[in-house]
Amino acid sequence: MSQRFRVAIVGGGTGGLCLAQALHSAGVEAAVYERSRVRTERLQGYRVHINPRGSQALHECLPPELWQAFVATCGTSGNSFGFITEQLDELLFVEDELTSAADRNPVDAHHSVSRITLHQVLSAGLDGVQHHGKEFERYDRAADGTITLHFADGTTATADVLVAADGAGSRVRGQYLPHAKRIDTGIRAIAGKYPLTEQTKRRLPDRLHAGPNNVIPPAGCGMFVAPHELGADHAPDAEGIGANDETANADAVHFDNTGSYVMWAYAANGTRFPRDETDLSDMDGVALRDLVSRLIKDWHPSLRQLVADSPAQTVTLLPIRTSVKVPQWETTNITLLGDAIHSMTPFRGIGANTALRDAQLLSRTLIAAARGEVDLLAGIRDYETRMIDYGFGAVRVSLRTAEQTISASRIGRTMLKVALRTFSAIPPLKRRVFSELGNK
Ligand SMILES: Cc1cc2nc3c(=O)[nH]c(=O)nc-3n(C[C@H](O)[C@H](O)[C@H](O)COP(=O)(O)OP(=O)(O)OC[C@H]3O[C@@H](n4cnc5c(N)ncnc54)[C@H](O)[C@@H]3O)c2cc1C
Repeated sequence: MSQRFRVAIVGGGTGGLCLAQALHSAGVEAAVYERSRVRTERLQGYRVHINPRGSQALHECLPPELWQAFVATCGTSGNSFGFITEQLDELLFVEDELTSAADRNPVDAHHSVSRITLHQVLSAGLDGVQHHGKEFERYDRAADGTITLHFADGTTATADVLVAADGAGSRVRGQYLPHAKRIDTGIRAIAGKYPLTEQTKRRLPDRLHAGPNNVIPPAGCGMFVAPHELGADHAPDAEGIGANDETANADAVHFDNTGSYVMWAYAANGTRFPRDETDLSDMDGVALRDLVSRLIKDWHPSLRQLVADSPAQTVTLLPIRTSVKVPQWETTNITLLGDAIHSMTPFRGIGANTALRDAQLLSRTLIAAARGEVDLLAGIRDYETRMIDYGFGAVRVSLRTAEQTISASRIGRTMLKVALRTFSAIPPLKRRVFSELGNK
């Protein structure tokens, strides 16, 4: 190393840990400060779709044994994508022979990974690098550029470079770029998990567990349905990656990391939910599930069953927010990645992939700067220029997809269905739809 500097990463989530892995492997001094007291504190949830770009970032940033552990512990989501009506009529169905996991290099493939397993992979081997129970409150910057971080427990840490990886509600962003805003789209999604066993699988039509589907009803709402299946030979690795977290309640389906399921998410504009309902945010899983069941009462029985048979503890409300693009700021030794700067709606499934891409790009810059190959600030400037461009591009496309999903225009919906049926009849157009789905 020809230029020594210490990197402080606030937030040990997807992007922050991926960056830490790359820096740690390259011998750049890095520390992650994460507010959760233990690794498993807030971990739960649904599968994460990793697209080829996210996969390439993981491959580059992880040491080889952790990359292998990631690949070995992924589930599958099928190799197809469908657009169907709420009556399960097929509008467009794309089978992607090219991404068949068996035929293709896993580095360039799509993956379906449990959020818990992904976190297990990303935090492995970072003992002494990752510090838990460190809730960042604010920073000070001295005249020589040294940054002091202040935590809620009264402790401090110093660094030469500060990376905000503290997610959508980033406190670092709040202090550093107070004009960078996050807004409520007004859209509300309610999501749940239908556990897949041989028995429950037989109750669903193949279409609903063969691959992800966008359900397109006449107007005003939409549903996304995606399987996450672990093969019969799925087993945690020797380090416990892919197992249930020891501190998590393994009986609760939402924390179970070892079972297969179909996840669904119903979305509509908040104003479309019945006015006489209590505030959605006050509802528990049972009430939210009942509400979705009522809203889809005219849909195909299999979709109704998917919702009705999902355990209530897996059903959660997701208020849909998005960030607003900011012009590029003056470059300093503080930078940001992932949701901390470009949080987006989950409708394209690209927020984590974009955070991983940021981590890959920023790690290259910081490693090159540590080796004296680039000037540190010039490198950060270059990273930020590129990240702002593709990051807010992803924000834009995610918002557009969210708005299309809940569009109240019946004419628009009819035109969309006609377009999908037309694409369906023309194979090159079908393939283009598929390749655009996960690679933005
Ligand atoms: C339902 C749903 C499904 C999704 N599915 C997908 C998908 O399939 N594919 C995809 O690419 N994306 C998906 N996303 C988006 C994805 O989850 C996020 O974009 C991604 O996690 C962002 O990573 P990050 O590292 O920026 O932030 P996070 O992963 O949110 O990490 C932020 C970390 O910072 C910590 N933190 C916060 N505040 C502080 C503080 N003050 N001090 C210290 N630590 C702090 C948090 O505890 C957390 O660990 C989905 C999102 C949702 C809601």
